[in-house]
Amino acid sequence: MKIAIIGTGYVGLVTGACLADAGNAVCCVDKNAQKIDHLKQGHIPIYEPGLEEVVKHNEDEGRLAYTTNLDQALEEATICFICVDTPPDGDGKADLTNVLAAAKEIGQKMKSPKVVITKSTVPVGTTFKVKESIQTELAKRGVDATWVDVASNPEFLKEGSAVEDFMKPDRVIVGTEREEIAEMLHQLYAPFMRKRDRFLAMDVASSELSKYAANAMLATRISFMNELSQLCERTGANVTHVRDALGTDPRIGPDFLYAGLGYGGSCFPKDMKALIQLGREYHIPMTIAASADEANDNHRNWFWQKVNAHFETSGGLAGKKVAVWGVAFKANTDDVRCAPSLTLMDKLAAAGATVLAFDPAAIKNGQKVLGDRVTWCSTGYDCIDGADALIVCTEWREFRSPDFDKLKASMNAPVIFDGRNLYNPKTMRALGFTYTSVGRP
Ligand code: NAD
Repeated sequence: MKIAIIGTGYVGLVTGACLADAGNAVCCVDKNAQKIDHLKQGHIPIYEPGLEEVVKHNEDEGRLAYTTNLDQALEEATICFICVDTPPDGDGKADLTNVLAAAKEIGQKMKSPKVVITKSTVPVGTTFKVKESIQTELAKRGVDATWVDVASNPEFLKEGSAVEDFMKPDRVIVGTEREEIAEMLHQLYAPFMRKRDRFLAMDVASSELSKYAANAMLATRISFMNELSQLCERTGANVTHVRDALGTDPRIGPDFLYAGLGYGGSCFPKDMKALIQLGREYHIPMTIAASADEANDNHRNWFWQKVNAHFETSGGLAGKKVAVWGVAFKANTDDVRCAPSLTLMDKLAAAGATVLAFDPAAIKNGQKVLGDRVTWCSTGYDCIDGADALIVCTEWREFRSPDFDKLKASMNAPVIFDGRNLYNPKTMRALGFTYTSVGRP
């Protein structure tokens, strides 16, 4: 099939590359000319394991192209995916400016019938707004409204394993008004579901809401475990044991039950807020999502208070040197949007500490946010030299088994705050570290 992708970010580029890999002809559009230039010069603008190989292979085969010109992308396409960003507005509602701008432009430029699909995470009703906007533009040009069909196809890939998630999806959800469109999309996704068909066709509203429901459920599990971890610390329980006890119950399962320093990323915080706002709009309070969202803010602050309390007993943070391992909001990505590390580093710097940070993939993005308020190091060991504490913010594999003797010898004080529970508290104490983790005695 011939496909146009509007918005060549984490979702758009992965979707475009993977669909091209199945034999489709894909043209990715972005309004960011620099991003498109980089792609044309062979640079992948994001860190995503396995993406470069798929992108390069399909470029070489002539199935994957890039442009800033929507006309060019729409020329041959029968299917057009909208994959633009939907950031929160001032109230936490999903800001649909980019989605509706893309829709309007499609309506102005399409020269043949198309199926336009919202893949961006959008509130219920948006896909029909997209249709309305396109039809308004078609009417201005005297073109028949039936030229456009719409569908909702929310994306469930996880950054860090996005290519694998797209190639072997747990499920593909599609919401349509017409069965023929669902069948067309079923065919498009069939190459990715040869072993077991996991295509779920439904109405548009259910499809749109499913994405928010899934993210809210996952974020709620994390917030629940984080609150429990605080209770564990007070009561002498160990959150790792509690997690094992919960996770072995098949009704609960083991995933998304890790206590940490609070969730972040480009999706959970904004999608929780958008769901809460959607509930407000329809007078159905999303009390569980609202509590989980509030619990996350509290928990992120609780972790910061632990760090702060430690330094208060030794003259405060001013003039202290603090090393941070991990800037990305989770391992295997360079995405720092809403990352807990950024809030922590901002607070450390504001309190007068010298902050040194390392991340295997996310330094560039961290620099864009915090600039020279942080010293950005090229290895994990570079930033611990003379440090008064190390804070582990991201669970990158290379942080899981460091040379503790080297750490101890380099640091000014052997103090570790482990926001990801990577190390064994007993071992750390035996090695002579002052070790603080989350919810473990
Ligand atoms: P992103 O910020 O990485 O990429 C969005 C791209 O769209 C940017 O490159 C931007 O320049 C471009 N863009 C915006 N308006 C445009 C327009 N009118 N024309 C052309 N290009 C335009 O965003 P992302 O992380 O890929 O997320 C995209 C959507 O997918 C969001 O709604 C997000 O919630 C959802 N989503 C993201 C993930 C994820 O893990 N990142 C997972 C599932 C769903």
